[in-house]
Amino acid sequence: MDKLESDWLIANGEKVLMAGPCSAESREQVLETAIGIAAYYPNAILRAGIWKPRTRPGMFEGVGEQALPWLAEAKKVTGLKVAIETASVKHIDLALKNGVDMIWIGARTTVNPFLVQELADSLKGVDIPVFVKNPIHPDLQLWIGGLERFYKAGITKLAAIHRGFHAFENSGYRNVPRWQLVHALKSRYPELPVICDISHIAGHREFLPMIAQQAYDLNLEGLMVETHCDPTSALSDAAQQVTPEALNELLTSLVKRLPSFEDTPVMNQILEIRKEIDAVDKKLLEALNRRMELAATIGELKKEYNVSILQLERWKQVIDNCMVLAAEKGLNSEFIRNVLIQVYDEAIRLQSRIWNESDNGVPKK
Ligand code: PEP
Ligand code: MN
Repeated sequence: MDKLESDWLIANGEKVLMAGPCSAESREQVLETAIGIAAYYPNAILRAGIWKPRTRPGMFEGVGEQALPWLAEAKKVTGLKVAIETASVKHIDLALKNGVDMIWIGARTTVNPFLVQELADSLKGVDIPVFVKNPIHPDLQLWIGGLERFYKAGITKLAAIHRGFHAFENSGYRNVPRWQLVHALKSRYPELPVICDISHIAGHREFLPMIAQQAYDLNLEGLMVETHCDPTSALSDAAQQVTPEALNELLTSLVKRLPSFEDTPVMNQILEIRKEIDAVDKKLLEALNRRMELAATIGELKKEYNVSILQLERWKQVIDNCMVLAAEKGLNSEFIRNVLIQVYDEAIRLQSRIWNESDNGVPKK
């Protein structure tokens, strides 16, 4: 995905806002909400679900295509661009026939490569922006795969939507953000805009500001916020929606961060600190290299004297020693434990290679 465009979405580095109801419910609700949003944010994109993927049957599953004229009217009255979720080729056809400006692929669709491919194929030759939400479970490759399927079908106006990930255990969030996956996506595709759907991460409006600020702190390109003229009576996701007024309060409370230290008075100091960080990283690598040389030497001796590679007592001692040191130095014990596990795994891999020339059953890279 080396020819992604972003100017269709981002103007002058401004944050993008996608706001609108979880579900379009009636003509009046769509219009009132859109007018409320446009009064504060005339450049926002109006979102609305018209076919709703619900976890259990019998819940409100959206009003369907009858909402398309309501959205067209809202667009005419407010000038807002309109986006809906499409999960079938029929949805896409209807969206295209009814002047929908942008579409998004929901989390439950991104998990299904057959379906995503069908949707992408149906867009060949069509110039419409597509947003791809992350799959429900934290599978970065599947998220990237979804984006790639549209890119290969000729869609270059692409963006990702981060809506958090399902967690089996109750975490307080409706969907756990797992920001590290967003880091990984961003470092792989710096040109790909990422919008944070704070509503589906939060599950409750009370948590929206905190998550929105985290998204801003990571310099994500924008937010999706479910907005409803009367949230408490919403037919879906009532607890997480906000009024247009509350949306404005939320957004104005956020602190925007600068994208870098450039042009700040501390730039020189930062350069010095970064030099020192580079030197520390070099030492870390040298230490790791020495650590692996020592592990390899022991590996040779284990082979010569026919001693098992796994020495659990010794491993326990290494962890215990390092946990004491970590505590003394005020280092996060979980972090140090994870680092040590990685180091130990690599040492075992090296020793197994000496032993069997087979990487402990794992094919050699
Ligand atoms: C939505 O945005 O209305 C929605 C259903 O979200 P998700 O696909 O992220 O669950
Ligand atoms: Mn919703």
